[in-house]
Amino acid sequence: MYDLNNTYLDIEKNKNGIAILPIGAIEQHGPHLPISVDYFQAESVSRAVAERMGAFLLPGIAYGNSEAHTGFRGTVSISSDTLKNIVQDITKNLFNQGFTKVGVLNFHAGNLVLKLALREVNLSSDTGVAVLCQPWQDIDEESETILDNYGNEQHAGEFETSVMMHIDPAKVGSNLIDCVPDVQSTYFDYRYMKEYCPDGVWGKATLANSDKGRLLFDAMVKATVEKLSSTFDQLNSD
Ligand SMILES: [Zn+2]
Repeated sequence: MYDLNNTYLDIEKNKNGIAILPIGAIEQHGPHLPISVDYFQAESVSRAVAERMGAFLLPGIAYGNSEAHTGFRGTVSISSDTLKNIVQDITKNLFNQGFTKVGVLNFHAGNLVLKLALREVNLSSDTGVAVLCQPWQDIDEESETILDNYGNEQHAGEFETSVMMHIDPAKVGSNLIDCVPDVQSTYFDYRYMKEYCPDGVWGKATLANSDKGRLLFDAMVKATVEKLSSTFDQLNSD
């Protein structure tokens, strides 16, 4: 694996042409988790994936589109247009210097623009391919067996709190709360989260533990490596 600690001479030894770009968000995660949870998860899972694949790990994009979390201080959002431009600039730059396979690991559901951004990049490039992975979605089957509140976990609940207890337990506070509002997850398309989850949690953080976090983390790494490997193979992008 190669990262920011390497020289350009080191990185020139990366012959498989794989680069990994983590993407997070800076937004509230309830009273018990830091605002950087999505970014921490993106960086941690991406590092494990890059190690397994012998890839070049880029520094993550910390910011995402977090407009739905407006009203909680510390949430800092960038527009979808800005995010799209940054991701397209980075992937095109990587293609231009010989990276042919880019894995974009997004950890924030509000970054909806990424699918469009990468589709445009892929259709306009004949040298490389960029694959979007959203690891929490890619382990839906595993989540169903690991989580006790499966199906009602949206934000800062059992899922994310467990993962943080595994990655860095010192970052998890003791004031865990539960909140399962009587609305569908599509409410994110219509209303600010603060209106139906005033404490910023949608899920059951009290059910979280580090064992569940380890299982979720390992499953996300495995699913992402498999998805990237099989997609790169299928597209034969060497
Ligand atoms: Zn999150």
